[in-house]
Amino acid sequence: MYHYKVHHSTLTSKRSNNIIVSPQEEDNFQSLLTKHNITFRLYDENVQETLDQEEKILGRSNSKKQYDWTTYHTLEETYDWMKNLSNTYPEYIELLSAGSTYEGREILGVKISYKSENNKGVLIEGGIHAREWISPATTTYILNELLHSTDSRIRYIAENFNWYIFPHTNPDGYVYTHTKDRLWRKTRSYNGNYRCLGVDPNRNFDYHWNEQGTSSNPCSDAYAGKEPFSEIETRTFSNFISSLRGKINIYISFHSYSQLLLFPYGYTDKRAPNHDDLQKIGDIAASALSKRYGTQYKVGNIYETIYPASGSSIEWAYDIENIKLSYCYELRPKSSSFGWNGFILPPNQIIPTGQEIIDSLIALLDEGKRLNYF
Ligand SMILES: [Zn+2]
Repeated sequence: MYHYKVHHSTLTSKRSNNIIVSPQEEDNFQSLLTKHNITFRLYDENVQETLDQEEKILGRSNSKKQYDWTTYHTLEETYDWMKNLSNTYPEYIELLSAGSTYEGREILGVKISYKSENNKGVLIEGGIHAREWISPATTTYILNELLHSTDSRIRYIAENFNWYIFPHTNPDGYVYTHTKDRLWRKTRSYNGNYRCLGVDPNRNFDYHWNEQGTSSNPCSDAYAGKEPFSEIETRTFSNFISSLRGKINIYISFHSYSQLLLFPYGYTDKRAPNHDDLQKIGDIAASALSKRYGTQYKVGNIYETIYPASGSSIEWAYDIENIKLSYCYELRPKSSSFGWNGFILPPNQIIPTGQEIIDSLIALLDEGKRLNYF
């Protein structure tokens, strides 16, 4: 497999895309780009080798049974761990099911509530894009710290908020990245085209659906689907969130990669009503994040900071569910480097990522409170 960076420009912007091409298609692909005057760079001549390297580092064959953050886990391992936690701490943890998937898996989550039903709520959504493995890993890291950390700052946020945590909102896609295609992004549904399955769940939410930064082509990685909420995953997960109306005050979605902290809007260049607050809280959260390891995040609205994108979960949460603090972290790394594809973050970076993200969440919640959001 060959990894290309393809550059294209419109009247207003210059962008580049990463494209993986199979050996059989490589000649055709290059001549097509040349024919259309599209500039490109061959980034990695052997993606499979890069992936095999990751497999080696992961030590998938290890017999270690303990759940920890030195490796990326399978869906089954994480779900077993979550079920065990709920058995161990029944007084604090409630197992939640936010629906099911095209292939019949469960979208499993937990609610952590130490004190009060009156606590404000934080919802954490992980893994909506299957190949972004650092997202569920960070999500479970946070869950574990909320339960086990003795740091007083973490204890404060653990006990004074109710936490709704979903490490895997696209379980079928995640399983597929473990079994067939490490770089799969979408769901696994059939859309009338056997060659190209799946929909981008983060373009499938029913809010300015398919308007910007989406595709109507089922073969595209940004395919928005046949209609809003065409995917059982987005439909059932959003129904679950709606059932909690009034109980969620902060919505956090984890993606990778690029080291960005993003907020609405992405469907329009129009600024969100509380844009200045979102920017201010975000800046403070990013500054707290950088203190531990110097990791720099850029903060801004989706449209101006990364690219126009509509139908995403955080925009739907922001406007339809009226959750006025809705953010998306694009986690480490900043860019693809040293022959590593950016979606493949070495597992020794899981814990540092989790630590700096918790630093950032503490600051985000603190500043949100100071600005009277809850
Ligand atoms: Zn993503």
